Amino acid sequence: AEESNMIVAVRVRPLNAAECQRASVTNVVQVHGNNELSVHAGSSADASAGFSHFFSYDQVYYSCDPDRKNYADQLAVFAGTAQPLIDTAFEGYNACLFAYGQTGSGKSYSMMGIEGLDDAALDGNAPHVEAGIIPRFCHELFRRIDAVKQQLQVEVEVSYFEIYNEKIHDLLSVQQAMAALPDTPVQRQALKVREHPIFGPYVVDLSAHSVDSYSALRNWLAVGNSQRATASTAMNDKSSRSHSIFNIVLNLTDLSSDGSDDMSSDTDSGTVVSLRQTRRSKISLVDLAGSERISVSGSNGERIREGVSINKSLLTLGKVIAALADSRKVGGNATPSTFVPYRESVLTWLLRSCLLLSKVASVDFVVQMLEIMS
Ligand code: ADP
Ligand code: MG
Repeated sequence: AEESNMIVAVRVRPLNAAECQRASVTNVVQVHGNNELSVHAGSSADASAGFSHFFSYDQVYYSCDPDRKNYADQLAVFAGTAQPLIDTAFEGYNACLFAYGQTGSGKSYSMMGIEGLDDAALDGNAPHVEAGIIPRFCHELFRRIDAVKQQLQVEVEVSYFEIYNEKIHDLLSVQQAMAALPDTPVQRQALKVREHPIFGPYVVDLSAHSVDSYSALRNWLAVGNSQRATASTAMNDKSSRSHSIFNIVLNLTDLSSDGSDDMSSDTDSGTVVSLRQTRRSKISLVDLAGSERISVSGSNGERIREGVSINKSLLTLGKVIAALADSRKVGGNATPSTFVPYRESVLTWLLRSCLLLSKVASVDFVVQMLEIMS
């Protein structure tokens, strides 16, 4: 049986300090085993009243109480969701991983986490215990590259950008990082998407940076994160309304044969032509905008309350994933008739090659909270 190439994982975060202090907020989510949770709805005064809804997913992570046996830390979430995508990338496939959920549900904590400043002192620049999926993925990637370097030459290139109001901003542009002087409102240039006849959609003038070690990559990550932070303090709720996309491109060249099979020598001209194959794969790790702004009631463009703008990329991502899931239901064969609206948003257009025929992981977040209206 063919394995599904879409995986949905849910992580339940602990109540934060503010939530703990509010009597109206109670813990209503329970995790059962590795792939089921229940949400209890009803009276907070009487836990036995009301009813529970059960949901199952590919993976469920309980991250509330570190003293509990099933507690999933940053490493466990990485190992279950993102680590398998390293194999995918080495096989030459594209993949993407999305963090989806309301603002405050733990998307950035899970994707980026908390980067310790002192971790360089630890062995080989190992990620901090609270480092999230992105630094862990990159660290593990270079460990793997090192382990296979006799057989496989791997070149790594990274890019990092955000999408806000359907406009793209490079987070690793050197010029912009230099221009971002304190107290200077940065006038950032929006980049355009174009469709290459062979390679498909791409961001025009997006900077890409070759890296040959985890520490080099981490420096770029730090540049991008500080660019993101600068931009969001200048505009209040920007961080919750923008998507950030971290791309890792691998160029893989097989070195395992001694070359005699792969090389054909042209005796007439004396030149040797290399026929070695280079594969290319791309992994996109995406911290999505907060999901609170889309009202899922009515998919037919129902009027949205004033002041609340639709996040086009988020809405379209939902449609694209639904269409892909739908087209794969019929005996595992994609029905060509299913229309997948990739081009309706910048995010889905750019991620088309990752979404199409490739592995998708997503981490959904459940905020362990219910406001009891009395
Ligand atoms: P989002 O990016 O979805 O808006 P954040 O990742 O910023 O949310 O998380 C909101 C707050 O909750 C942060 O202070 C973060 O450190 C904390 N948090 C989120 N998930 C966890 C977790 N699993 N364990 C401990 N703290 C968490
Ligand atoms: Mg965030």
